[in-house]
Amino acid sequence: MPSDSALRIVWIYPDLLSTYGDQGNVLVLEQRANRRGIATETIHVRSADPVPETGDIYLIGGGEDRPQILAAERLRRDGGLHHAVARGAALLAVCAGYQIMGSTFGGEEGQPVDGIGLLDIASSRGPARAVGELAAEVDAALNLPTLTGFENHMGVTHLGPGVKPLSRTLVGVGNGDGFEGCYAGHVVGTYLHGPALARNPALADLLLSWRVGDLAPLDNSRYDALRQERLAAVLPG
Ligand code: GLN
Repeated sequence: MPSDSALRIVWIYPDLLSTYGDQGNVLVLEQRANRRGIATETIHVRSADPVPETGDIYLIGGGEDRPQILAAERLRRDGGLHHAVARGAALLAVCAGYQIMGSTFGGEEGQPVDGIGLLDIASSRGPARAVGELAAEVDAALNLPTLTGFENHMGVTHLGPGVKPLSRTLVGVGNGDGFEGCYAGHVVGTYLHGPALARNPALADLLLSWRVGDLAPLDNSRYDALRQERLAAVLPG
């Protein structure tokens, strides 16, 4: 039942883009909101359906090259995500979803494919597939602990002046230029799977806080143990 007061989480194109458990990002947002007494309503938008403009937090995941191209075409034609972001909605875009947000990305043969232009980035096929663990130190302005996750992508991403790097890569490839992901306004793009918000609950809270303001603290001990284990496995010393 839609409710006016519930936080609206919109999961875009689960039928095209949802590799490596990226749908877990939806669950983490729901749980971290619900545990604080914030009601949520989650909308799964299949690629044949219009993207609602009145969501609070939008999520899009990673995927193979062909579905990625279809998703970009449909999002561009639909326009709902553009309107939502212009209204101040938050967006977390992962891997293929991240690349789609830019001006261009590499298709199945490496050919340039038009993105949807929500972020000032341009992606193309890189020299080798980036596969493995990622760890990255977040831009100090965001006040978040080290990001952890894993990556699996061919693309590299060039950041334009309209975005800031989300983090500096400590382990792994990320954008391919020493940085991982980017952000602008309430839009965050990242190559992190894991899913990203399960491995980085502080990033989930950042997205939530952009829509609901200050958040009550939660007991993160179970997440922290997992995070420390993953970080210790890849970071020297
Ligand atoms: N197809 C894109 C690439 O290889 C994205 C892959 C992904 O989402 N994991 O760069």
